[in-house]
Amino acid sequence: MHDVIVLGLGGVGSAAAFALAKRGHRVLGLDQYSPPHNRGSSHGETRIIRKSYFEHPGYVPLLCRAYDLWRELESRSSTRLFHPTGLLEIGPPDGIVIPGVLRSAAKFELPIEQLTMKEAIYRYPALRGDDFWSVILEKDAGYLNVEACVQAHLTCAKEFGAELVMEQKVVGWEADGSGILVRTPDQIYRADRLILTAGPWAGELLSEFRIPLHVLHKHLYWYESNNGSYREADGFPCFFYETQAGYFYGFPERDALGLKIARHSGGEKVDAEIDGVHQRNPEDQSAVETFLGANLPDVSRRMTRWSGCYYTMTPDENFIIDTLPNLPQVTMVAGLSGHGFKFTCVLGELAADLATNKRLSTDLSFLRLSRFLKPPND
Ligand SMILES: Cc1cc2nc3c(=O)[nH]c(=O)nc-3n(C[C@H](O)[C@H](O)[C@H](O)COP(=O)(O)OP(=O)(O)OC[C@H]3O[C@@H](n4cnc5c(N)ncnc54)[C@H](O)[C@@H]3O)c2cc1C
Repeated sequence: MHDVIVLGLGGVGSAAAFALAKRGHRVLGLDQYSPPHNRGSSHGETRIIRKSYFEHPGYVPLLCRAYDLWRELESRSSTRLFHPTGLLEIGPPDGIVIPGVLRSAAKFELPIEQLTMKEAIYRYPALRGDDFWSVILEKDAGYLNVEACVQAHLTCAKEFGAELVMEQKVVGWEADGSGILVRTPDQIYRADRLILTAGPWAGELLSEFRIPLHVLHKHLYWYESNNGSYREADGFPCFFYETQAGYFYGFPERDALGLKIARHSGGEKVDAEIDGVHQRNPEDQSAVETFLGANLPDVSRRMTRWSGCYYTMTPDENFIIDTLPNLPQVTMVAGLSGHGFKFTCVLGELAADLATNKRLSTDLSFLRLSRFLKPPND
């Protein structure tokens, strides 16, 4: 018998399994594939991490803890996970991103540097943008090696005694008295507690709760640059633009694949089964190439790689982390809405807290499930 079953061992689940095992709980982790894999939401080499969060200042305390936890995981696993390249946030001064970053930075006294577009171009000559845009450089932002992070959490969880079973699809779960029962095609597992961290499959496993999640296909592109203008080794940072055509972000050139770029807005709604199979979308690619032409003109049109991935969206684009209504033995983390990887270490820790009735050190009220559940008779 296990204390806790963690269902899904991707970004959040691997971290939850590690957090629980480190505290001495008997953990069983189950995944339908063998993470890190490329069928869910935690693949494609890199993920941006930043602290002056424009989306909601409530995320900043979580990020401060996440920075500590990633560093701790790096040293425990002897693996480089975090690259502090810095991040340029670029957009209209009265848009969403720039005022949001300034708000979070002011509230939590975070170090940022404000530049005009002209000053930014002087410092990074292969960069472009509208003259009236503002630029913020977050020096302690950067990127995480996404698959290496998942692998490090899994390896460390195992070292602390977690039992991790891969290639086991969970086909059902139910409350069993005060505990839980989880079914795979050929096994039934029981435990006192369940943590559901199923990424884009969460809606399927939680269908009876009618949680308003929807899944989007998203696209990642790598392009060669014409003359190595955007190399990480030469100090080029990550970037996040707010433009009239939407949000675009990317990573400096690390190797021969070149610069990695994606559109954060947009995406196609997934109506079919979530199976990790994606198709290229010429419209998305064309939006990305138009963006490149206007803002990163030394990037060529020689695409070296493409990959598809899923965002799991909530209506307000904030995460859900909570126990289920009337089922305190079941904790869920879902709906990371395309910006959750940087938080996976801390969400895993908080899920472990919720599952073991530990007092939370952080205010999670803006991430509670209740904000989406209608009261009875409504
Ligand atoms: C293209 C793209 C770019 C992104 N960029 C950023 C970024 O720059 N910064 C950032 O912070 N975030 C970013 N994100 C978001 C971030 O990557 C995700 O929020 C995060 O990886 C989600 O982790 P997860 O644990 O919820 O899902 P996953 O990592 O997909 O894990 C879910 C796991 O559950 C397993 N599972 C599901 N159902 C079952 C079942 N029935 N039985 C057994 N196992 C099951 C799956 O196999 C999977 O391993 C990006 C996402 C995408 C797609």
